[in-house]
Amino acid sequence: MSKKEQPNTMLSVCDAVSLACPCSSGLALRNCCAPFISGTLQAPTAQALMRSRYTAYATNNEAYLRATWDERTLPKEALVHTEKTQWLGLEIKADEEQGDTASVEFVARYKIGGRAHRLHEISRFTRYDGKWFYVDGIFPKKKGGDNFR
Ligand SMILES: [Zn+2]
Repeated sequence: MSKKEQPNTMLSVCDAVSLACPCSSGLALRNCCAPFISGTLQAPTAQALMRSRYTAYATNNEAYLRATWDERTLPKEALVHTEKTQWLGLEIKADEEQGDTASVEFVARYKIGGRAHRLHEISRFTRYDGKWFYVDGIFPKKKGGDNFR
């Protein structure tokens, strides 16, 4: 049987679902962020949403990033870098949930054109109708790290 596999242009993550999840959870992508990104499951916590959004950045999934962004703060311009950004890993520092608001502090590392960057952010999230959305982020101590934009 040498049937050629049909490439899935809709979701490039589908091709790599058995690989390690980009969000550094140690789980396979299919057991971690993929079900949230594909819409099979809803992210149960702000941290789960944050992780899946990191994975969306790592896989250039502009549509998912927009769909999970609070429409009050959603930027008009493109969220995914047009230049090649290589995402290296994610580390969750703190995680606080209070009713329908939450914050997740994390450090994400990435490379652009061979140069390493470090993003330290406290992201704020809000929940509408049981669904978490990213609102905005603050940067506790800027240490040579760039913003997403
Ligand atoms: Zn993940």
